[in-house]
Amino acid sequence: MEKKQFWYRVRVFFLLLILLVVSLNSWLSRSRTTDWQETLWVVIYPINADQRGDTRGYLNALQADHFDEIEQFLGREANRYGIALNHPIEIHLSDVVENEPPEVPDNASILQSVWWSLRFRYWAWRNSAWQGPEPDIRIFMRLFSPQNRTVLEHSLGLQKGMIGLVNGFASVDFQSLNNFVTLHEILHTLGATDKYDPQTLQPLWPEGYADPYQDPLLPQFRAEIMGGRIPQNDHFSLMPDALENSVIGPLTAQEINWLN
Ligand SMILES: [Zn+2]
Repeated sequence: MEKKQFWYRVRVFFLLLILLVVSLNSWLSRSRTTDWQETLWVVIYPINADQRGDTRGYLNALQADHFDEIEQFLGREANRYGIALNHPIEIHLSDVVENEPPEVPDNASILQSVWWSLRFRYWAWRNSAWQGPEPDIRIFMRLFSPQNRTVLEHSLGLQKGMIGLVNGFASVDFQSLNNFVTLHEILHTLGATDKYDPQTLQPLWPEGYADPYQDPLLPQFRAEIMGGRIPQNDHFSLMPDALENSVIGPLTAQEINWLN
């Protein structure tokens, strides 16, 4: 065998081995995290994404109880689906992470997405500022001052690696919206899929609607978490202002193993 060919085979062998270990690990963590026997630990890692003083001030004041709404909402919805666990998740807040995660590619191919997700997971492992027990789900939260920006990039949550990246506003006025987006990404890490049209961002009927059989159908008054918005007419939907007025629909419940 030529020397070159030998090293090529060795490289392929190790890559396949890494892939096998990563897949096995994802599979194990998925079956453990969606059996709903024990409270899942979620750690939020805040990042000052625009390096502004007002963002820093908000980060300094941020407490884990700013996210209590998520825990309460998920407990309420789990009970509605007959899950006995009162606290399906518990949210903890890490110290501020000083580095930025690798930039998410625009219109990425599948290969680029896989590559980015591996880099992100490696980056997350290197940049953890959390001192406590190993979390089940990690959410990196890039916060921006609303004085400086009005539009944020998309947030995302990966089931493989149980990790999410949330872009939010550094202001109490946006805490509820940040909580909605954070829960949406947490549910992605647990296997839930998006229930909106990626082009128009309009929720899909019936699975993306909180009340798909309401009469008249529009306007809706609540949001399905993975539908992401509250449809007002065929072309326009509102962002939800509180988790309290949201629901986890039956398809999402099925995807996260709350329904058989
Ligand atoms: Zn989504």
